Amino acid sequence: MRVPLAEPWQAYVGLERLSTYRDASDAEAIVWLDIDNTLYSHMETRIADRMVERIRAYFLALGMSEREADELHMHYYKEYGLAIRGLVRHHTIDPMDYDQKCDASLPLESLLRPDEDVIRMLQRLDRTRTRVYALTNAYKFHAERVLRLLHLDTLVEGVVYCDYTNPDFLCKPYAEFYLAAEAAVQAPHGAHHYFVDDSRTNVDAARRLGWEHCVHFDETCTDASARDVPTIAHLRELERVWPSLFRSTST
Ligand SMILES: [Mg+2]
Repeated sequence: MRVPLAEPWQAYVGLERLSTYRDASDAEAIVWLDIDNTLYSHMETRIADRMVERIRAYFLALGMSEREADELHMHYYKEYGLAIRGLVRHHTIDPMDYDQKCDASLPLESLLRPDEDVIRMLQRLDRTRTRVYALTNAYKFHAERVLRLLHLDTLVEGVVYCDYTNPDFLCKPYAEFYLAAEAAVQAPHGAHHYFVDDSRTNVDAARRLGWEHCVHFDETCTDASARDVPTIAHLRELERVWPSLFRSTST
């Protein structure tokens, strides 16, 4: 269900305009790409596991026992969608210190490699009527770093991100996060939304808002035929599930 935003979009999300930025005001189709564990393989990089280790260490450094740290981490994740939202609310932490210790310290340079198949696929998108943005629960520094290392920073036009510096920031899967993302890029009424994310919860939230072309990225997927949402195990399959977005499917 769509409810008008009570505040301007800046109250909910951040928008980073990349070098190729264009707003979506004249777009017919908008592609939203999740970043973490969607633009790269979780199984190959184990970046998510390394993030969890760092977040756990952050809780411990606040003086909690291991048990308290695990319980609170889980509680904040369930209650707020992200550990940092609970930490900002209840522990008055410095969100930039958190970002530095949890995301910026990840050894991404040694873990991430550009995928030529994905790069070529995004180059084949019909950009005259389609805009491409990242939609992430990370802060902008991490988002830009991942996009740069994957050589996608000139193929994605902007990043809608979690603004850790805003005490009331939202994240996926809150409805306002998606609606604020639409407003941030000036998505016209009637634009068609295409979204891929490795979190089924995030996909379902988008579908409830009317984003009609949602894809679940699941690299462990073996049989997608019985699923109610298109499921892909590699990003290059987007060209198969969203054929109308591409200039030509003939090779
Ligand atoms: Mg993800």
